[in-house]
Amino acid sequence: MSFTWTPHRFSGGALALDVANSVVLRHDDERRIDRFEAHGQMESFPKAAANFCAERTLFGDILPVKRENRADFISLRDMIDRYFRARILGEAADLFLADLLAALARVLRQASANGLDAATVHSTLRLIAMPDPERMKICRNCGWLFIDRSKNKSRAWCDMAVCGNRAKASRHYRRKKEETAP
Ligand SMILES: [Zn+2]
Repeated sequence: MSFTWTPHRFSGGALALDVANSVVLRHDDERRIDRFEAHGQMESFPKAAANFCAERTLFGDILPVKRENRADFISLRDMIDRYFRARILGEAADLFLADLLAALARVLRQASANGLDAATVHSTLRLIAMPDPERMKICRNCGWLFIDRSKNKSRAWCDMAVCGNRAKASRHYRRKKEETAP
């Protein structure tokens, strides 16, 4: 399957969330897609992140994760999602935080300078300590994690132009159907 890392893929508002969001529809067993499993995508992600990620000015160039470190990086990615999702939902997130911290330490010990792995660790640490955690949300349409930087903290979608429009279109469709129903 051909696929490109468009700006939409970096709607998370932080590198660590964009990494976690490389799994699309994570909680839908039938439709879930892991973008990092497709050939070459783990190599092309860092360059796109350096261009589109909200934290790009912090990192400059980002290099791919070394092949031998990828398995640990992928398990870190999944812990990032698990911890922050639990925190947003008000579940027992501290249990997952312990696992996440262990994964961060493991990845950081082997990470290369300017590597996606090191950058993701630093991004995650900032998110753990963010002063306004209520701004982190789950997109109502696609399930991605994102940071709502809007003034009144009212954003419901990772990307208004994609998920917001899709939600609006399906609402419109439902209304039309109801109106025309006999
Ligand atoms: Zn979305």
